[in-house]
Amino acid sequence: MKGWEKNIRRVVPYVPGDQPAGERLIKLNTNENPYPPAPGVKRALKEMDYDRLRKYPDPASLALTDCLAAYYGVEKDQVFVGVGSDDVLAMAFLTFFNSEKPILFPDISYSFYKVWAELFEIPYEMVALDEGFHILPKDYYRENGGVIFPNPNAPTGLLLGLEQVEDILQHNQDVIVIVDEAYIDFGGRSALSLLDRYENLLVVQTFSKARSMAGMRIGFAVGSPRLIRAINDVKYSYNSYTMNMPSLILGVEAVRDEAYFKETVGKIVKTRERAKERLGQLGFTFPDSMANFIFAKHEKAAAVRLFEALKERQIYVRYFAGPRLENYLRITIGTDEEMEELYRFLEGYLEEDGWKAQKNI
Ligand code: PMP
Repeated sequence: MKGWEKNIRRVVPYVPGDQPAGERLIKLNTNENPYPPAPGVKRALKEMDYDRLRKYPDPASLALTDCLAAYYGVEKDQVFVGVGSDDVLAMAFLTFFNSEKPILFPDISYSFYKVWAELFEIPYEMVALDEGFHILPKDYYRENGGVIFPNPNAPTGLLLGLEQVEDILQHNQDVIVIVDEAYIDFGGRSALSLLDRYENLLVVQTFSKARSMAGMRIGFAVGSPRLIRAINDVKYSYNSYTMNMPSLILGVEAVRDEAYFKETVGKIVKTRERAKERLGQLGFTFPDSMANFIFAKHEKAAAVRLFEALKERQIYVRYFAGPRLENYLRITIGTDEEMEELYRFLEGYLEEDGWKAQKNI
């Protein structure tokens, strides 16, 4: 080992899903939206004045924060934006989780939480979900340094009702509670309505899923002005210009077109409900997802083998190794056509697999 090597920070990084290249593939592995962003985004992109790239963007990102404040009916000083909700969440961990007591989050959840906790040396405890993968609010009735959970949870897709979210808040008034609502638009009630009553609540959302702009990298947090001031101070201590000029302009366009947003979300929800029927008929079981993905297992087909077979057929889904997850595949909801191809493949595969199992091959 060279002398300087001991000074290198070593971490176990988060592993993002594959972004395979190719035209013909069906990509159901990273919970992207199968529909394009709002038409206004395309228009603004075409009309963008490239000379503006010469200058730094607005460090306060006011065009976007003000537009989000108006859309969600909160004050302008209650919104913070970042480079995807990953950036917002990382900043929030740095800003709000500074206790010596452990922060709490579900053991089966967004795996980045553990990575940030390790990176920032924040003590943490993972709280076990119940047998059916539910978050139980009473498990969070104990001393801690902060709480974070996704709602709906990922990768299970299970939604916690607003009453249960409030139950967690009521029992955690001395710490910051972060609700990661990356998938809330696909069927849940947002905790934004609780902000008036809980100054310690931070709601984080993203443009990557329902707004179909994962490639642009926009996320945001809404909270009390005191929380937003604090997270801005940390941001300015790290990088003043997190949001580039195109993302500020295109983000505003995406928020403006509410009709398009509702239409595409409606289509995805309809396809998801149909997917529950079809996957059920094919022998899959899954928690009742309120997100844009389904976390499914099959009694007879081993998940990892099915994952590989799907990949060979250019259908990408997500597989997570690890206890309680290894029998499942997380399948993002695509277009109806993409999903039909998936069902067709699964029908053939399961028939053949069943035959192989009978013959003991
Ligand atoms: N939270 C959850 C629960 C997620 O699944 C994701 C997507 N991987 C994110 C946050 C981050 O999404 P983004 O950075 O694209 O906003």
